[in-house]
Amino acid sequence: MRTYELDQSDFELIEMAMNVLEKNFDDGVYNHTVGGAIRCKNGNVYLGVNCYEIHGSCAEYIAIGAAITAGEREFETIVATHDKAHNHLLAPCGNCRQMLLNYCPDIKIILNDEAGNPVKVEVKDLLPLSYKRIIVSD
Ligand SMILES: [Zn+2]
Repeated sequence: MRTYELDQSDFELIEMAMNVLEKNFDDGVYNHTVGGAIRCKNGNVYLGVNCYEIHGSCAEYIAIGAAITAGEREFETIVATHDKAHNHLLAPCGNCRQMLLNYCPDIKIILNDEAGNPVKVEVKDLLPLSYKRIIVSD
């Protein structure tokens, strides 16, 4: 898997995701335990926290939903954070990997590599032989 080193803007993205989690963490309730941040190709950043429920939404979904709602369509990098995770970084769940691959197939994701170092990877490398939506039109 190809990995990329983090640059200053990536560390800032992690910091923003941590900050939005800290501002919205509901100690004792635990409905919001993950912070997310997505950077668009134009440099704009959108934030989100997860919303817990049986079919709740991950922070990545909330962040990309905020970006899409604001009219963004071109995405560069995304990160999800948890204050107790190694380097504060969480890898995206399978559902988020599929969503990110569908919405932004060239997005990079910040996570820990197998040695525990923070790196960026391409979403397509996180979901080999992935499901491809088939659209049938008339
Ligand atoms: Zn997820």
